[in-house]
Amino acid sequence: MHSDHNTAWSNCLSKIKDDVGDQGFETWFKPIRPLKLENNILTIQVPSQFFYEYLEEHYVHLLRDVIDSQLGRDYRLEYSVVVDTGDGSNKPYTIKLPNNPSRSSGNGFKSKSNPTRVLDSYELFGYDIRLNPSYTFDNFIEGDCNRLARSAGYAVAQRPGVTSFNPLMLYGGVGLGKTHLVQAIGNEILRGTDKKVVHYVSSEKFANQFFDAIKNNNIQEFSNFYLKVDVLIIDDVQFFEGKEKTQEIFFHIFNHLHQSGSQIIMTSDRPPKDLNGLMERLVSRFKWGLTADLQQPDYETRIAIINRKMQSDGIHIPDNVVEYLAYSVDTNVRELEGVIISLIANASLVKKEIDLELAKQTLKSIVHDIDSEVGIDYIQKTVSEFFKVSIDELKDKTRKKEIVMARQLAMYFSKEYTNLSLKSIGYHFGGRDHSTVIHAVQTVNDLYDTDNSFKKSLDELRKKLKLKAI
Ligand code: ADP
Ligand code: MG
Repeated sequence: MHSDHNTAWSNCLSKIKDDVGDQGFETWFKPIRPLKLENNILTIQVPSQFFYEYLEEHYVHLLRDVIDSQLGRDYRLEYSVVVDTGDGSNKPYTIKLPNNPSRSSGNGFKSKSNPTRVLDSYELFGYDIRLNPSYTFDNFIEGDCNRLARSAGYAVAQRPGVTSFNPLMLYGGVGLGKTHLVQAIGNEILRGTDKKVVHYVSSEKFANQFFDAIKNNNIQEFSNFYLKVDVLIIDDVQFFEGKEKTQEIFFHIFNHLHQSGSQIIMTSDRPPKDLNGLMERLVSRFKWGLTADLQQPDYETRIAIINRKMQSDGIHIPDNVVEYLAYSVDTNVRELEGVIISLIANASLVKKEIDLELAKQTLKSIVHDIDSEVGIDYIQKTVSEFFKVSIDELKDKTRKKEIVMARQLAMYFSKEYTNLSLKSIGYHFGGRDHSTVIHAVQTVNDLYDTDNSFKKSLDELRKKLKLKAI
């Protein structure tokens, strides 16, 4: 009945559409191509490894439900990933990772007795540790924004339970790398020679497991499981707010683990003192070890993150696109990654190289239009401050060398950042005609290629314009 993969997938899509917003659908589902439907496996093609990881992280349950309802419970999904090797020979490869079939029990400790789980290779001692192996220290870019958290995390990873950083509490806003960092700690510990039982769990899942344990009358098994781990990583503890019973059991587990020298690592979206819905005695324990925050990444860190991401996806994009993205997306790393993915997806859809034009188009549909905020007045003001010349001098007929250069740069940026015609740009610079503007743009381009100190000034200036515009 499901002989055709196209039909099968388009049925799935119509369900998915109801569940995800327009933007999510455009970005994450439109670029997917169904490849085949064989042996109860629907294979879909995604544009990159990261794309696949993103789907698995954010839409795994949705996909599983949709496959269940549209094809049947015994159907699985497989991904075929297109790798951009940069040489134009993009051969897809297949990752045989079905969606998580143990989601209905939704419960790591119970599934110990369930032999049908998939992630066997990530299990130690019969425990389901559920760490994502792609979160490592190696690919966690260090910057001023995360230095303390990262180095404390690294110290803990080398000597879990032994440093004074116990518990280690990392906090910060969404998308700043908390989950990545704590999972990197877990992965690093597993790489070590000491066999440690590392367990990562989100607070939400912990609470659900506990709830199930009450319902099924096996709280003992639940506690025993947690009391035996050497390293407990518990993500997003703000979720415990207002859940007193869950806090009680966690308090109990916390005390026991701490006393027995096990390492506890936690994350939260805010500092412990602001966790108002948590019991005071729990919060006070959170402060026993080390509390470190993760902040928004600065420009240089964003550049490094983008480069790293592209490198690991095997994709090359021009420096000016990297800079553009780093200027434009300064909120958090997740958003930055989302933009990169949309860009890759867009490029593979329209079969175009990634260039500034495509980056701008992509961003326009996602973030607010930054360019529209850089008006010609703003450009003139910024340039005049930068070169210490007056705005009047930019507009009048002075032919002094520095002023001519400043004027030409201001014209150049007006052309780049505004939608004004050459004629009206000329008009804003003391009524010059459009050929003067063309000449200015050409001169700037030539100097940029040949004169290093000029290039430096231009980059500096562009940074100022962009940074203020966001
Ligand atoms: P949080 O848990 O704080 O909401 P995540 O750990 O989920 O954030 O991070 C969001 C995304 O950003 C992840 O894909 C993560 O790999 C990436 N990321 C965050 N910080 C960094 C960093 N410093 N270097 C590399 N990638 C990062
Ligand atoms: Mg997280």
